[in-house]
Amino acid sequence: MNTFRTQFPNSFDLPQKLTRLGELAYNLWWTWNPTAMRLFSRLDNDLWERLNHNPIRMLREVDRSRLNEVTKDNDYMYSYKRVFSDLDAYLAQAEPWALRTHPELVNRPIAYFSMEFGLHETLPIYSGGLGVLAGDHLKEASDLGLPLTAVGFMYAQGYFSQRISEYGWQEAFNNPLVFEDLPALPVYEGNERLTIEVELPDRVLSAQIWEVRVGRVPLYLLDSNVEANSEYDRLLTGRLYWSDLDRRVMQEVLLGIGGVRALRALGYNPSVWHMNEGHAAFLVLERARELVAAGHTFQQAIEKTRKQNIFTTHTPVPAGNDEFPLWLMDKYLASTWPELGLDREQFFDLARHQQPQGETFSMGILALRYSEGRNAVSELHGQVARKMWNFLWPNKKESKVPITHVTNGVHTANWMARRLRNLLTEEFGSDWLDHLDEPELWAKLDDIETEKIWAVRQHLKRKMAFYLRERVRDRWRQGGFHPVQVVASGVMINPYALTIGFARRFATYKRASLILSDVERLLSIINRPNRPVQIIFAGKAHPADDPGKQLIQKIYQQVKRAETGGRLIFVEDYDMNLARYLVQGVDVWLNTPRRPLEASGTSGMKAGLNGALNFSVLDGWWRECYNGRNGWAIGEDKEHVSPEVQDAQDAEALYSTLENEIIPLYYSRDIKDIPCDWLERVKESIKTVTPQFSTRRMVKEYVDKLYLKALE
Ligand SMILES: *Cc1c(COP(=O)(O)O)cnc(C)c1O
Repeated sequence: MNTFRTQFPNSFDLPQKLTRLGELAYNLWWTWNPTAMRLFSRLDNDLWERLNHNPIRMLREVDRSRLNEVTKDNDYMYSYKRVFSDLDAYLAQAEPWALRTHPELVNRPIAYFSMEFGLHETLPIYSGGLGVLAGDHLKEASDLGLPLTAVGFMYAQGYFSQRISEYGWQEAFNNPLVFEDLPALPVYEGNERLTIEVELPDRVLSAQIWEVRVGRVPLYLLDSNVEANSEYDRLLTGRLYWSDLDRRVMQEVLLGIGGVRALRALGYNPSVWHMNEGHAAFLVLERARELVAAGHTFQQAIEKTRKQNIFTTHTPVPAGNDEFPLWLMDKYLASTWPELGLDREQFFDLARHQQPQGETFSMGILALRYSEGRNAVSELHGQVARKMWNFLWPNKKESKVPITHVTNGVHTANWMARRLRNLLTEEFGSDWLDHLDEPELWAKLDDIETEKIWAVRQHLKRKMAFYLRERVRDRWRQGGFHPVQVVASGVMINPYALTIGFARRFATYKRASLILSDVERLLSIINRPNRPVQIIFAGKAHPADDPGKQLIQKIYQQVKRAETGGRLIFVEDYDMNLARYLVQGVDVWLNTPRRPLEASGTSGMKAGLNGALNFSVLDGWWRECYNGRNGWAIGEDKEHVSPEVQDAQDAEALYSTLENEIIPLYYSRDIKDIPCDWLERVKESIKTVTPQFSTRRMVKEYVDKLYLKALE
């Protein structure tokens, strides 16, 4: 019997009538249930904003007299009762979708491994889309009642926060996280912290474990900051994606091998092992090692375990896959191959990759060879992946390479604005989220009065504009901000002008500066007095990515120019909170990746389900969603002879669609000043994006296409 337990580190000393708020603070279920969230924010709205929506700090810091006051507020206490009866029903649901439709899943846990998880802004253990996708996957698994358990890292400093200097250079600040303020529960075994160990050739690496509750799904996070480790090793889980290779490979050893051991220590015996990207691929080795230790040969062990392994690839460029030089593998895995019954060469043969600079050990190859389930994250990405990895199946035609695709999705309740949710509840009934992936539901959207949709859209844009202004004000008061940066950050934002959003990681393939390829033309587009257009940029570059930082600088130099009239805006420190305001508030969501390098993309889905219209290259998910009526395409669904030609053609398409279609449509109004034709597209966007590009559809597809097969 496992004797582990988690311990609530805080007793909040709450009034008797409110004690369960402490429990709610430790289950991220509140993050996608607005009524639950409001139990915290209503205690003190200003404090809630100041604390960056952190309920644990909120309960500790809010005035005690205020707590006593709400116990006498009937409306508050009514909400309180409702929230906890909803939560209890949710947690106790005996027959959720997964178990009702697939009884074979009962007692067959699915383990989900990811280097990052984007669950909420207070838990900054994600850097971008990969993490947010993983976070949304957990929330949906919880809603569907899938017996899923996740493994990742608790990063002591989280992902960096970003400031932009007056000259446009990104500055990175690493802020130590205060774990007592986070919804992470330390896991104990008896009276000691539960720890796991991984042997390296010259030392032992230890890690302790934290548990984060995501509805019904537990997420276990490994943390190397323990006394048994050297100072150097304690920093291993200090940050996401170390750029030095030693730490990088050690992190992956800890995730893949240590992650399996953590689940074992916690008493899990998963039936399915899902690797979200190749960072966790060493789990393949640990699972084989377990069977070798029990007396199997390596071949038997790897064949037996392969069936249950699932690998999702997210990278359409070979360089995006982690590969390690062989000397590094010697350094950190030399003690592993004898345990597998292999010699050095046999071990390298598992994932050997011939590269111009020499031989490497490829995490992508390891994962693909030793997983029976393999998928890309959109249809086009599936084609690209089959071509890219064809060499692993030399006897198969490209189209027969065994990599399927499951297009990404987003967690609707997490990303849809409360106002829009409320409108849909009024129109569709209170249980519409239970039917969210059913097309019949969305046919009813046409019956909603256009004016009501416009009112919601206007509200959301105003809310975003006011939020951005308050952000600038706070930043200005903190000092070190040049007056021109106040303008550049959006203080002159107009809540009634057509607003375009471009926010994502600054990786060069995303071509953030495409819209600046003809600056004079752009200035003439945005500055027409009766048809103003504003563009909001946001996003971080990885601290070691100088080309990405130069891209930010290039944009910032334009944003600062007086000629833009304050209509180009760069907002610092993109995170899930800012993302929420932007995807809900802008009119148009711009995306200009160099096709076909955006494997899927998800931010456009978040925008589209809120009624912001996508204006994007036909890459990744948008290629599957675009129907001519729900947004706009940039360029055609085809390959180009060269990146230069592609850039030039895409830039021309971008400007002309903006000038000839988007701006005229937005500013064409009826007698009540409502853009009716625009709103037809808004409806079409909500209708086509929400059901199909939801994690509801996505996780069900993972079950049908991959998880159930692994159980057979
Ligand atoms: C959704 C999201 C992403 C992913 O955006 P893409 O445009 O798909 O790359 C990145 N960062 C944050 C904070 C997000 O919420």
